[in-house]
Amino acid sequence: MGLYNRSNMNILPDEDLPFDANMLDRLAMVAIRVGLNLQPGQDLIITGPVEALPLIRRISAEAYKNEAGVVSTILSDDELQLTRYEHATDESLDRAPDWMFKAMGEAYNDNTARLAVSAANPLLLAEQDPARVARAGKSMSMAAKPAMEPITNFVTNWNIVSYPGLAWAKQVFPDKSDDEAVAALAEAIFSISRVDNDDPIAAWKEHQATLTARQEWMNEQNFHSLHYTAPGTDLTLGLADGHAWKGGASTSRNGITCTPNIPTEEVFTTPHADRVNGTVRASKPLVHRGTLIDGIEVRFEEGKIVEAKADIGEEVFLQLIDTDEGARKLGEVALVPHSSPISASGLLFYNTLYDENASCHIALGQCYSKCFKGDIGKDPEAVVAAGGNSSNIHVDWMIGSGELDIDGVTQDGDRIPVMRNGEWAYE
Ligand code: ZN
Ligand code: ZN
Repeated sequence: MGLYNRSNMNILPDEDLPFDANMLDRLAMVAIRVGLNLQPGQDLIITGPVEALPLIRRISAEAYKNEAGVVSTILSDDELQLTRYEHATDESLDRAPDWMFKAMGEAYNDNTARLAVSAANPLLLAEQDPARVARAGKSMSMAAKPAMEPITNFVTNWNIVSYPGLAWAKQVFPDKSDDEAVAALAEAIFSISRVDNDDPIAAWKEHQATLTARQEWMNEQNFHSLHYTAPGTDLTLGLADGHAWKGGASTSRNGITCTPNIPTEEVFTTPHADRVNGTVRASKPLVHRGTLIDGIEVRFEEGKIVEAKADIGEEVFLQLIDTDEGARKLGEVALVPHSSPISASGLLFYNTLYDENASCHIALGQCYSKCFKGDIGKDPEAVVAAGGNSSNIHVDWMIGSGELDIDGVTQDGDRIPVMRNGEWAYE
């Protein structure tokens, strides 16, 4: 299969883009003002592919218009990445540019904001030798730690937005021509990112108010567990002691409230690693490491998956849950109404940022320490004692649909409707 990479045509002038370039101005505005909430004088590091330059240039301009300090951009290119997998020695793959990640980490720890533009080709490495991909992936993720830790620990404000890259668009719309595919993905990204209206900033304020109301309601209820029923699903999911529901905006340790994911539709928290029982059937396929896994059905006993199958990609799924001790247990539970714009699009994006926001989901593996009340999240032992799971994986998969009902079970055992036919029951 081809790479769909029009290398020389990657950076099209505005008038040749197969979509309305004004939407990129609005997306840049949302990224800087809502996503990052960039502060006057604050420095910014932008990362993204060369193909996304029409958006990256606008983000840089928007940053300076909002009185940014210094904006530095680090560009990547799929073709450049492939040259390494195709020609580098195995020894080369065991190394990574540590110096760059150290410098980025230093900047983030010194109050520099971080903005990632994603336009990823989900199957870029699909034809490469899996052993070489794994080798390079391992050295890269080890080297990237100094740059990733300040982000996962929310030391600074950060944000991810997407650009409709051609290879990604062809994956989502394989039957369309290049231009039609990019145009269709662009339309989906702009509408789901809420920039296809005259006042995207107001639209995001309203959306955040909705997410805040949902998480506050769930926090007030302080449920002991959630009971899911749908075709193929009868699952009781215990929540961690002292869990807190989160969603949308988040305040980083530098005191700046940012909205890390554009788009975002979920409110989410930490399940209890030992209190999940029953069966659950996935409602959408999962894309993991370039492989499609469909028809997942699992049975939990005391938190742990004891039976698992899938119609497609079963081998990969079984390997995944054997990654480590915590890979058979849950680390996240998230509620997303069936009417969310991503779900309504009916598309599979092959991109977690989009697909996980389509529907109610659960994640196997590592929990989020920020989803706890008080100081629990600051102490790794307290997180484990409260029921937080730990693992080297965190893989989200969708279980929501228009046929899903969820009851909340209170600490006293009373049942309160949370969702009916995939929609919030209390709203
Ligand atoms: Zn999630
Ligand atoms: Zn997740």
